[in-house]
Amino acid sequence: MKNENLKQLLQETLDKCSHYTREGTVASYIPELAKAAPNDFGICVISNDGAVECVGDCEKKFTMQSVIKPIILLLALEDRGAEAVNSLCGMEATGKPFDAFNYSDRALQSEHINPMINAGAIALCTLIKGDSYDEKFSRLLDLARRLANNPSLDVDESVYLSEKATGNKNRALAYMLKAYGMIGGDMEEVLDMYFKACSIQATAQDLASIAFVLANHGSDPRRAERMIREDHARQVNAVMAICGMYDGSGEFALRVGIPAKSGVGGGIMASVPGRMGIGTYSPSLDKKGNSLAGVYALELLSERLGLSVY
Ligand code: GLN
Repeated sequence: MKNENLKQLLQETLDKCSHYTREGTVASYIPELAKAAPNDFGICVISNDGAVECVGDCEKKFTMQSVIKPIILLLALEDRGAEAVNSLCGMEATGKPFDAFNYSDRALQSEHINPMINAGAIALCTLIKGDSYDEKFSRLLDLARRLANNPSLDVDESVYLSEKATGNKNRALAYMLKAYGMIGGDMEEVLDMYFKACSIQATAQDLASIAFVLANHGSDPRRAERMIREDHARQVNAVMAICGMYDGSGEFALRVGIPAKSGVGGGIMASVPGRMGIGTYSPSLDKKGNSLAGVYALELLSERLGLSVY
């Protein structure tokens, strides 16, 4: 597709889907997130034929929230290998909300969690290499910067402090993982890293850049170096396809059909293997915590460009 046509398609998609920004609600359980402007909407595509096209609010920064989870998974894979990662954290869809902790009917085991829900991501933070949690976090931030090709990615301090002050469900999850012997160490330090990771700010274009590397099996055709191992990129794409949209992943597979990860900050990062990386931003969410206009935009793009892998 010619670049002008792609730009036009993105603009049409933005226009057709923008009314959905009025139908969802901005996340408010993290007080600082409630300040987002509900009508913001941006779409960015970076495609293998060299196009970088952005429409709408693509320069607007928002916190990655759960979109950082695939990068936590990647770094854990690069640091410790697939065997260690897979034995701590499973990869099956849970069919439950991202912050569910109703495991009390059975002993919590690694196969009950996956890297795309909070419990799994918190567990994987413990696998990342570093002498302290500050060092583990700075290695994660560094990987996010390299994948996004943006050295200025950084933490939104007020969102981080807001999450830290109110994140009691995540605290419960971390202590439950510890109680079942799945992770060790100081839970407040693990959580501090997780809260900071969720509070890294990015734009729709940053998400498209990260997705572009995943779509190209771990390398960016525009850059000489391989960014991540091919088998690790494949694992991240597969896990995103199975559970990247939480308990909305099955419906998303049917409607859109590509590996993607959403976050309650309003971002969605979608990787179309061998073709393109897509980033969307719109902070009005559906009941499951996925960006409403973002999902509709991806559905329309998938239909128009034949993106579904199924
Ligand atoms: N920081 C958020 C939380 O832990 C991330 C959740 C999300 O984006 N779904 O609740």
